[in-house]
This record gives sequence, C-alpha cells and structure tokens, in this order.
Amino acid sequence: MLNIVLFGPPGSGKGTQSELIVKKYGLLHLSTGDLLRKHRGEGTDLGKLAQEYMDQGNLVPDAVVIKMVEDRIATESTAKGFIFDGFPRTVNQAQALDQMLLKYDLTITAMLSLEVEFSELRIRLRERGKTSGRKDDQDDAKIENRIKVYNQETTPVATYYEHQQKYVRIKGVGSIESIFQFITHELDALK
Ligand code: ADP
Repeated sequence: MLNIVLFGPPGSGKGTQSELIVKKYGLLHLSTGDLLRKHRGEGTDLGKLAQEYMDQGNLVPDAVVIKMVEDRIATESTAKGFIFDGFPRTVNQAQALDQMLLKYDLTITAMLSLEVEFSELRIRLRERGKTSGRKDDQDDAKIENRIKVYNQETTPVATYYEHQQKYVRIKGVGSIESIFQFITHELDALK
C-alpha cells in the first residue's frame, strides 16, 4: 500500500500529476483544495467559512481542514492507498495526519516534492487564472500572498518529512510526461 503526500508550492502541478498517479496506481486522490471548492459550490457551512480565506490566498484554519480530511479517510479506509494533494500545509496538519492514519494502522510512505522556481509559478498561476475561474489565480497580490504563506507556513512541512527520511525531491519543470516519469521511477521503487 502506498500513501503519498504530493507536496509543492501553488501551481507546481500537484493536481495534474495526481490525476496521472491515480490512473496508474489506483490510489484515492484527496485534494483539500478540491474538497473545499466542492463545499463552496454546495454552499455548506464549511464552504462559507472557507470562502474568505481561499479568495485571499490564506490558509483555511487547521481544525477545519483536519476534520474534513478525517471524515474523508473514515469513509474511504478501504482504499488501496491515498495521494494527499495540498495537505498537509502546516506542521500541525502533518502531525494530525500521522495521528489519524495510525488509527487505521497506516503511515505515509513518502512525500514527493515538486520543485519549481517562483518565477515559473507566477507565470503558470496567471495563465491558469485566465481559464480556471479561480479568484485566487486572477490577482497578482493574491498570488504573492499564497507564495508568502507557502514560504512561511508550508515549507516547514518538508523538514517534518525530511526528519522521517520520507522527503523525495522531484524536478517539477519540463513536460507533464517527463515529470510523471520521475514520479513513477520513485513510486515503483517504493511499492
Ligand atoms: P493551490 O495549491 O494551487 O494554491 P489548492 O487548490 O491546493 O491550490 O488550494 C486552494 C486554497 O484552498 C488555498 O489557497 C487555501 O486557502 C485552501 N486550502 C487548500 N488546502 C488547504 C490546507 N491543507 N490547509 C489550509 N487551507 C487549504
């Protein structure tokens, strides 16, 4: 069983690569960004709470996101394995994830980190903003804020997994297929 954290800054290609990983390895994709957007679309209380944070490019509070992930894992605990995308984004979330997996006798196998320079990310996010309809992709100040939040709150998560010898760097620049090849190379070695 593989339980993978796909890590990387906004716009690093986590969603795109997750889809390919799901197809090849049959893992269950758990994207907190997608789940939050679904809540917003359905107008749930959680969605309403998350809206302002997301639109500004700030993190939704840990307790809310952790509870949402816990609920999802509970209904899918028979999955072949998980790919976590956009989660954990804080050390607090990483600790909570380890705790909740423990309940099912599971652990994170590895954290794959998509490495992309910030100048490239800015270009990608602005491009995505033209078609995605995502407000957080359409405004330079919001993009900058997400990069700032990533640097301050999310990069410590990499250190957390590095201490567990689970941190694997993946070059996140090049064609989608070539990046996926780097990923499959790592995952096949872990299987
Ligand atoms: P991206 O990585 O491209 O910025 P995501 O779809 O992963 O986009 O996330 C969009 C927004 O959803 C984030 O900016 C944040 O507001 C919220 N979000 C997603 N995942 C988390 C999380 N694990 N913790 C807190 N907020 C989150």
